[in-house]
Amino acid sequence: MHLSEMTPEVDTHTHTVLSGHAWSTLTENCLAAKRRGMKGLCLTEHAPAIEGGAPSFIPHSQQMLPDTVEGIRVYRGIEANILDHENHLDVPPEYLRLCEWAIASIHSHMFPEKAKKTENTETYLAMLRDPYIDILGHADDPSVPCDFEALAEEASRQGKLLELNNNSTTAHRPGSLPSLKEYILCCKRRRQRVCVASDAHFHAMVGNVRPLMTLLEELDFPPELIVNLTQEGFEGYLRERITRLKNLH
Ligand SMILES: [Zn+2]
Ligand SMILES: [Zn+2]
Repeated sequence: MHLSEMTPEVDTHTHTVLSGHAWSTLTENCLAAKRRGMKGLCLTEHAPAIEGGAPSFIPHSQQMLPDTVEGIRVYRGIEANILDHENHLDVPPEYLRLCEWAIASIHSHMFPEKAKKTENTETYLAMLRDPYIDILGHADDPSVPCDFEALAEEASRQGKLLELNNNSTTAHRPGSLPSLKEYILCCKRRRQRVCVASDAHFHAMVGNVRPLMTLLEELDFPPELIVNLTQEGFEGYLRERITRLKNLH
């Protein structure tokens, strides 16, 4: 099957109404995933520093969720905000430890020093070295310039992943397409593992990464580098996280 016709079995980046500025419930997101024939989604609400976001992130409340909702496996995650160039996150390590999956993102509208490419790169590298962080969110964002080669090199050294975010193909992150292409080609060249993610803020967006998959096909991206195409591939990575964290203690 061509990449452009494939839907990832697990969407690694989704938001619900709990994020404050998203529009669907977890059940609606899971029903949408089910309709697309998917098997799982990562619940990755915005952490509290984002304005209008969830008032606080309490991973213990996520533990109350069933493992599957409407037959869709819900992986308990978070999209932590990188707050500054001193590598502060708005979720403490003891909370990240309780998650199954942790994204670290810079949101340009709340990151005043976003123009500093060298510092941005160093901050992203520090996040990749943080044992609790699995993946950088939308690091292709051209308003937060960074050195893609350095990111891919460190990600591969640390056994971490890089996210390809479908919103970079749409009006949600305008002007990102050239940068996204460059990011994809860098991952291809370095055989860096990636996730394809919708960053859904509405249930109809869950699992809908068609424009991104079309671009990946055009750029002849190796499907075996996309860990969330299958649930088996994604859970294989999650076992790496578990081993990594076990070795810390
Ligand atoms: Zn984000
Ligand atoms: Zn997001």
